[in-house]
Amino acid sequence: MSRFGLSPRKFRRLLTQYCSLTRELECVPTFFLTAVTLKRHPKLIKKLCQYGVEFAIHGYIHTDYGMLSYQEQKKHFNKAIETFNKCEIPFTGFRAPFLRTNDNTFRVINDLGFKYDSSITVHWDVIDDNDGFTREARREYQRVLDYYNTHQARSYLVLPRIIDNFVEIPVSMPDDEIIMERLGVTDEDKMSSIWNDIVKKSYQSGEIFTIQLHPERISHYEKTLIGIIRDLKQYNPPIWLATLREVTEWWKERNNFQFRIEDEGHGKYRVKADCSERATILVKNAGVNVPVKEWFDGYQSVESRDFVIESTKKPVIGVKPDSSPRAIQLLRNEGYIVESGEQPDNYSVYLEGLAEFDKTEEKALSQKIEQTDAPLVRYWRWPNQARSAVSVTGDIDAITINDFILRILETLFTPIEKERKTSLK
Ligand SMILES: [Zn+2]
Repeated sequence: MSRFGLSPRKFRRLLTQYCSLTRELECVPTFFLTAVTLKRHPKLIKKLCQYGVEFAIHGYIHTDYGMLSYQEQKKHFNKAIETFNKCEIPFTGFRAPFLRTNDNTFRVINDLGFKYDSSITVHWDVIDDNDGFTREARREYQRVLDYYNTHQARSYLVLPRIIDNFVEIPVSMPDDEIIMERLGVTDEDKMSSIWNDIVKKSYQSGEIFTIQLHPERISHYEKTLIGIIRDLKQYNPPIWLATLREVTEWWKERNNFQFRIEDEGHGKYRVKADCSERATILVKNAGVNVPVKEWFDGYQSVESRDFVIESTKKPVIGVKPDSSPRAIQLLRNEGYIVESGEQPDNYSVYLEGLAEFDKTEEKALSQKIEQTDAPLVRYWRWPNQARSAVSVTGDIDAITINDFILRILETLFTPIEKERKTSLK
């Protein structure tokens, strides 16, 4: 509670600090905001909006929507949309309070036309057992990760994915809250080194690091954020710094890209790429008849959208016809050309044993393909030859101490919350 002053002044100062800082760094943050908080502070939010901040919906009230039915969630999210519209705050996305969802949450946000969700959490292995944390701190840390139903970055691909009509963009753990309140880290160098490790890991694997940094902790993380953003601009191939709306638009655009591939005989395959200008086309382990640029990890990037690849076999991934749709979707999402067939010799890479495929096997499959020395062509995950992506986000749950108390009361007096408490007993 000490984070919130009695007037909005203190929080306004923190928000302004966050916004001017990111502005200076040429980085636009995405803030998730509960509708009741917006209702109480429309002028302040409007001002930040004019400042260029991207806003998104963080529920009507700050409650565990993972406990609510489809109808109840729909009622809440509709009321939230109404509030945002009334206050003229544009939004396209959603993040659940407490990062808690159930299947209904995703159905509702899809049915209400949200463009993206960022509630699924992914945990990066950046907390070392030898870092000297107490057993209690480590237990707390694990307890929060369990509460969020966190996926593990060591096995799950940390990438956007299309679910029905919206894009899911995972948010990275540990976030500011866990690092400070659960692990008890207050040393800025230590905070920076934890997040820097995630930048490096996500760069190495070409994934997205969605930072969660709550505005109320910006004073503690100022140096960390400045360091991270300044550093990431030095990478080559670059790191794409984008808002979640921009990531969403890109992912949808990329989803329409296609390759046409024709066998011209004598080990030559013509590739025609149907894609936008900012698409990144990569080729590996093969000669190409147009200029290429060395890129990363043995890949070369190709500017041309019509070129010939030299390869003894068709440079596509063949999969056994019994492969699970989840596995095939993953390979397509990875930008490869995928064909189903019985003859391994017809393809530069042939995959079998994918009839049962679980999300915990994603990274292993992706790495297996990366390690092959077979000729391949693909669309890379990010635009303009970027290697990986970083997005800066934060939740605004309360602006004043009044909001903070109301936040507790609001959830206490909803019938659903009572139900939740009973079911937790
Ligand atoms: Zn929140």
